Amino acid sequence: MSKSTKSSKSGKLQRKNSPRCTNPPSQWPQAVWEKFYDQLEVKNRNRKGNPYWVKYPAPDDCPIDDLCCHRPPAGGSIGITIVHNGLEYNRPIFRMRLLLKCWKEGKLLNKADQASHLCPNNKGFICCNPEHMDPEPDKDNKARQRCPGWIWIHPYQGKEGGYWYPACTHGPPTCKVFTPKTKVPIKVAEDMAATTTTTTTTTTTTTTTTTNNNNNSNNNNNNNNNNVDNDKMSCSSTEEFLN
Ligand SMILES: [Zn+2]
Ligand SMILES: [Zn+2]
Repeated sequence: MSKSTKSSKSGKLQRKNSPRCTNPPSQWPQAVWEKFYDQLEVKNRNRKGNPYWVKYPAPDDCPIDDLCCHRPPAGGSIGITIVHNGLEYNRPIFRMRLLLKCWKEGKLLNKADQASHLCPNNKGFICCNPEHMDPEPDKDNKARQRCPGWIWIHPYQGKEGGYWYPACTHGPPTCKVFTPKTKVPIKVAEDMAATTTTTTTTTTTTTTTTTNNNNNSNNNNNNNNNNVDNDKMSCSSTEEFLN
């Protein structure tokens, strides 16, 4: 708990910092929580007057209503520090916002819980929208990786498609990820190519059983396709403990 002066690489002394609090959040005074809440959620302004986080809207073809991610602005810090009674408290912004959400809800945190991301933005930039995270153990966090989420069902072998299918098997809460319409499964693309080169008649599906079977095979194709390029789709694994 005693860190007062840091030396930079050049050997010069940097500004004197307050000692850092090493207690877990469960032992923080209420005033610390309130200070974090005021800065991050009420004001969302740092000492320079800039926002800690800004909204990052979802693409147009997104099937999820509230998928608006939050991120630090360009050049902004990814962490937040407050000082209370001469002690410094700091956390990455995404983790602090999840902690604040749990604090507001009076939710007790398990020491092993991680900030598990439900949305796709856990790489490149880490989304800090508290509604896009859930405290989960490592096993559940990892299980969300490679989730295809909502899948657009394309027409296939004369069967109608044209709707979003919820393929996530995780949660609650379920993953907020989706496979874009532009991502056409290989078998569907082959089928499309074949139907444009032959004379076809359009048939309408009459039994629900047939429709479901077809959807399942369509989903499998989509899953396979998604695994090839799952960087954008994987929905969790910020493998850092909340405390
Ligand atoms: Zn997000
Ligand atoms: Zn999922």
